[in-house]
Amino acid sequence: MIRIRRVPDDLASANAAAVAQVQAILREQFPTAGPIESAGIPELLRNPFKKKLRTLLFVAEDGEDQVKGFALVMYAPDLNFIYLDYLATQLGRGGHGIGAALYERVREEAAALDCVGIFIECLPDNPALCSDPAGTLKTNADRLRFYEQFGARPIIGTKYDMTIEPNLENPPYLVFDGLGREMLPDRRRTQAMVRAILERKYGELCPPEYTDMVVKSVQDDPIRLRPLRYLRREPEPAKAAPRPVADRIPLVVNDKHEIHHVKDRGYVEAPVRISAILRELEHAVPFERLPPRTFSEDHIRAVHAGAFVDYLRRACALVPAGKSIYPYVFPIRNTKRPPKELPLRAGYFCIDTFTPLNANAWLAARRAVDCTLTAAERVLSGARFAYSLVRPPGHHAERRAFGGFCYLNNTAIAAHYFSRYGRVAVLDVDYHHGNGTQDIFWTRSDVLTISIHGHPSFAYPYFSGFADEVGEGAGKGFNLNLPLPESVDPETYRAVLAAAVNRIERFQPAFVVLSLGYDTAAGDPTGSWRHRPADFRKIGEAVGALGYPTLVVQEGGYRTRTLGSNARAFFTGLWDSGHKTPLRGPRRPARPTPAPTPAPVPMPAAAQLEGAT
Ligand SMILES: [Zn+2]
Repeated sequence: MIRIRRVPDDLASANAAAVAQVQAILREQFPTAGPIESAGIPELLRNPFKKKLRTLLFVAEDGEDQVKGFALVMYAPDLNFIYLDYLATQLGRGGHGIGAALYERVREEAAALDCVGIFIECLPDNPALCSDPAGTLKTNADRLRFYEQFGARPIIGTKYDMTIEPNLENPPYLVFDGLGREMLPDRRRTQAMVRAILERKYGELCPPEYTDMVVKSVQDDPIRLRPLRYLRREPEPAKAAPRPVADRIPLVVNDKHEIHHVKDRGYVEAPVRISAILRELEHAVPFERLPPRTFSEDHIRAVHAGAFVDYLRRACALVPAGKSIYPYVFPIRNTKRPPKELPLRAGYFCIDTFTPLNANAWLAARRAVDCTLTAAERVLSGARFAYSLVRPPGHHAERRAFGGFCYLNNTAIAAHYFSRYGRVAVLDVDYHHGNGTQDIFWTRSDVLTISIHGHPSFAYPYFSGFADEVGEGAGKGFNLNLPLPESVDPETYRAVLAAAVNRIERFQPAFVVLSLGYDTAAGDPTGSWRHRPADFRKIGEAVGALGYPTLVVQEGGYRTRTLGSNARAFFTGLWDSGHKTPLRGPRRPARPTPAPTPAPVPMPAAAQLEGAT
């Protein structure tokens, strides 16, 4: 499995490791220029607008974060073009396929940025300019053939290939990829772009009179490209145009959720929830259904205690088919002497008495984690949104406790997975407080947790979700609880949602994980609010307008009759506003990181009850 992702900086641990591997490939493959260029990459990523060019780094890596190839590009926001500086793959490792995938990704990014096109310097395939018998000519020809399949060819009729010192071997062609558009750029625009390349990228090498001479040599209006040399005909327009990065929402559905079916009375977390949502989803926006991939259990153990994970797996395996074990003793005062019998020990690891252990709970929960990580991986690879439609849900599962229909915290596992690649904001809009997610990230400042929920004075889980729970240690100020009264009008809800959005904007995450519950809906058997489809649509719009790559993870929602219409409204809002909002990243210069102060929040009436409960 190879995934392509953009590396925004060298700060997060996985990003630092990727940059180091890119530097090694550069030094190995470009022995003359490589070492100098390689040393500059961290600086270029940290100061994105140095030389008025923003550096974008894409890596192709396997599931173990081993970099197999990379593309380093310069983006000029003022003139709106991309200059491809390096496209390199590790020697001898199926480089062509990886190179093509990387270049496709660069084209997608260029299209998303609405660029005029991509410029690439390629050494000539003309024997008159390159007499090297050692195969350089063939290498040059291969490279030009590679770009020709995307419609990219050398610009002709200019003096770009005239070297500064006269008559040097191997002068570069300037190749242009117009991203499948029929119209090529006009003379004035091309002159400005060529000047930018020579001054900003090669300013130290090119004297001003040389730059002026090359710029003036661009006289064709519009510019002309060399006729096809390697392909018989132009690539089909559909193939020539890059696929937009966000033309579909990857959707991963837990294919094993039905095995987990607790038929006890009142157990509303039932398989029908998934089919009710799926039925309407296809009418909402374009989804791309993906099969779940299996991930290592290490991802689970990174956020849940090992003893808890072991217990869940072993205890579930012991329960006879069709039977359930409910915790009924809670010997938490003597943690040193847990009961020997596994069923009796359940109370050590559970926060309530209504979430049973059974033969399939572990299997279904484990699969939900795989689904969520599969969707997360797509976000990491550049998808704007992805949806993990799973049950059992996860946000009540704490570091070492299950409960509230939840066993493993899908949201927290995904948020931790992302955190190696950049900061993460978790927004929980389920009716119930996301106590598990709060517990897991309580002392961390790299994962911001925000939950909007029914006040714990009347709503499950009753013991957490109060406004004064703000995190501890390094995590102080990075947990924001927004508890609301039993009855909430749409205006109040939107004001609170705006406060949450505001806090996320100040945090400036690289990723957002949304814990999405539909149990805020009118008539939900576990909630007291009255959200209608229009309200879910507003939530989707607010999250989409944030402009961050976002993973949506399914939590609660139990009124089967309206689950589908609410899901449809949410995703319509997310999709519409997402398409109106440019993705945060290259377009917007980074702002300084603000101090972690909690956002001002309208005080809900119920918060005054806090002292009495
Ligand atoms: Zn809930």
